[in-house]
Amino acid sequence: MTEEQIHLETDVLVVGAGGAGMYAAIAAARNGANVLLLDKSLIGRGGATIMAQMTVAVAVGEQTPDHWTHHLADTLNAGRGLCDEELAAILCREGPDRIHEMDEWRTGWTREDGHMKQVMAPGHEIPRCVFVDFLNTGPAVAKTLRTRVARTEGITKVSNLSVTELVVGKGHVRGAVALDLNGGRAVTIAAGAVVLAAGGLTRLYQRNSASVNMGGESYALALRAGAGLIDMEFVQFFPIGHLAPRLVGMDPIMWDPFRYKLGGRLLNGNKEEFIEKYGASDSGTYTAPRDVTSYAIFKEVEAGRASPNGGAYLSFEHLDETTLRSAFGPVIDRLANNGIDLTKRPIEVAPIAHYHMGGIRVNSEMATTIPGLYAAGEAVGGANGANRLSGNAITEALVFGERAGRFAAQAVTDKDWNKGWARKAIGDIKNLTPDDGNGPTFGMLFGELQSVMWEKVGLLRTGDKLEQALARIREMQRRDLPNMKPQSSGPFALGVQEWFDLRAALATAETITLAALNRTESRGAHQREDLPNTDEEQTHNQCVCLVDNNLALESVPVRRTEFERVALGGAE
Ligand SMILES: Cc1cc2nc3c(=O)[nH]c(=O)nc-3n(C[C@H](O)[C@H](O)[C@H](O)COP(=O)(O)OP(=O)(O)OC[C@H]3O[C@@H](n4cnc5c(N)ncnc54)[C@H](O)[C@@H]3O)c2cc1C
Repeated sequence: MTEEQIHLETDVLVVGAGGAGMYAAIAAARNGANVLLLDKSLIGRGGATIMAQMTVAVAVGEQTPDHWTHHLADTLNAGRGLCDEELAAILCREGPDRIHEMDEWRTGWTREDGHMKQVMAPGHEIPRCVFVDFLNTGPAVAKTLRTRVARTEGITKVSNLSVTELVVGKGHVRGAVALDLNGGRAVTIAAGAVVLAAGGLTRLYQRNSASVNMGGESYALALRAGAGLIDMEFVQFFPIGHLAPRLVGMDPIMWDPFRYKLGGRLLNGNKEEFIEKYGASDSGTYTAPRDVTSYAIFKEVEAGRASPNGGAYLSFEHLDETTLRSAFGPVIDRLANNGIDLTKRPIEVAPIAHYHMGGIRVNSEMATTIPGLYAAGEAVGGANGANRLSGNAITEALVFGERAGRFAAQAVTDKDWNKGWARKAIGDIKNLTPDDGNGPTFGMLFGELQSVMWEKVGLLRTGDKLEQALARIREMQRRDLPNMKPQSSGPFALGVQEWFDLRAALATAETITLAALNRTESRGAHQREDLPNTDEEQTHNQCVCLVDNNLALESVPVRRTEFERVALGGAE
C-alpha cells in the first residue's frame, strides 16, 4: 500500500450520491456552501435511487383532490403508532415542493390530460403516486439530479471514494477518512459539516432487492461517530419479490408497478386467494399493506400451501396482451426475452428484504446529536415508524436531502482540522496488509451473515433465534473479522474495501438484532412468533448508541405533532 495520502477541504461534505445525497449537494450549494459530493460507486449511479421502479407518494392532488395532511394520516396509520410525527409531517408537507421542482428540472412525470398521473398503492386512501413510464422512475430521478448537480456551481464530485470513518474532534464532526478504491490510499477530508446519505442495509439479508453498496454503512458510520440510531428492528420485507421463473436483467420488485396499474391475483399453491384470511382485503386491487402481505405469504408457505418454488403465485392471466402492452409497452418484450408470457402462466413471488424504516436519529433540521453531522434519505430513521407506505422512500430521499443540505450549509462555521483526530482511521486503512493465506474470506463471512440475518432476524423472529444470531454476530465481530485479511489480487483496493464493508455490516446487524430482541411484541414489520400480539405499553421508539464500545439501548417517547386533516378541496 502506498504511503502517499491526499487531503481535501470543503464546507459541506456529502457522503453518498443517491437521491438524498445529490439533493443535499444541490441545496447546500444554493445556500452558499462549497460542496464535496462523494460516492463509493459512480456519482448518481449507485445505490437504490437509480433502481427504483415506479411510485413516488406525494399529495400533489393533480388527478384526485388531496392534501398533505391526508398523506400524513395514511403514513401514520401504516407506521403502527411509531412514526416520528414531526419527520413524517415534513415528508408529506414538503413532498409536493420537491416533486414540482423536479418537474421544472424535467424529470418527465407521466401525464394524463395535462396532469401528473397518479396511481393507487397499498396503504394509500386515494391514488397519490406519481411515476415515470415504463418502470423508469428511479433512472429518471437519478438522471435529473445528476444533470442538476453538474449545472450547480460549487459542487465537486468524486466517485470511487468510500468513507470508512467520520472524524470527530472537540465534540464536533470535522470531516472524514475515506479509502480511494482506485489506488488503495487513505484520503482525509476536512469539512465544516457532513451530510450522511449513504443509503440502506438490505444487502445484509440473503434474499434482497439491494445493490452491492447497500450494506448498512450509513448506520455504522453514524454509530462510530457517536450518533444514535432509532427503530433498527424495523426492516421492511417486500412481499412480492420475483422468485420464478428465472428473470435476467430485470428488477426483482418489478411486479409492484404491474399490480399498481393492473391489479393481479395473489394465489397460494392451490391457486386460492388467501389475503383475506390474514385480516386484509386485496382481491386483485392491491390494497393490503406490505407487512400483512409478507406475513400472509410466509404463513401459507409454512402451512404447506406454497407455489412450486416456495412462494405464492401472482397471476395476470385474466388480462389480454393488448391491455398488458398499453400499460407496459417495451417491458412486455423484455419479459418475452425471459420466456415469460403473463397471459399464459402466473409467475411466482416471495418476500425479500427491501427497505429499512430505522436509521440515524435526527431532529427536524436533519441534525444528529453530533454537532455538524446531518443525515438524509434511507439513512434516516423514524419517519415511517414500524412500516413504510409504498412510494414514501423516494419522497423521503428528496425532502430530507434538500433539508439536510440546506441546514448543513447554514451550520458551517469553522473548519478546524487536526490530523491527530484522523490518525487511528488512517492507520486502520494502512495497516490492512493484503494476504492470500488461509484465513476466512469475505465471501464466506458475508454469506454466513446474510443467512443468519435471513433465518434468525428475518420476517418471523423468536427470542431464541435472535439470541443465537446476536451471539454469532458478536463472535464474527470479535474473532473472525480481525482474522480476515484483504485478498491481494487485482488492481483496485476491493479486498480492503470488503474488510470495511464487513465491519460496517456486522455493526449494523448487531443493532437490528439487539433492538429486535428487546421489542417483546409484534408490530408492523417486526413479527415475533413467540410474542404475536401488539403490546400498547410498547408504543415507544428504541434508540441505540455506542457507550464504551458496547451497544446501549433505551426506550424513547414517540415524537408527536398536532395536525388536522384539511377538508379536500379546501385551502391549507
Ligand atoms: C429495487 C428497488 C426499488 C425501489 N422502488 C421504490 C419505489 O418505486 N418508490 C419508492 O419510494 N422507493 C423505492 N425504493 C426505495 C428507494 O429507492 C430508496 O429508499 C431511496 O432511493 C434511497 O435513497 P438514498 O439517496 O437515501 O440512498 P441510495 O440511493 O441507496 O444512495 C446511497 C449512496 O451511498 C453510497 N455509499 C454507500 N456507502 C458509502 C460509503 N461508505 N462511502 C461513500 N458512498 C457510500 C452508495 O454507493 C449509494 O450511491 C426502491 C428500492 C429498491 C432497492
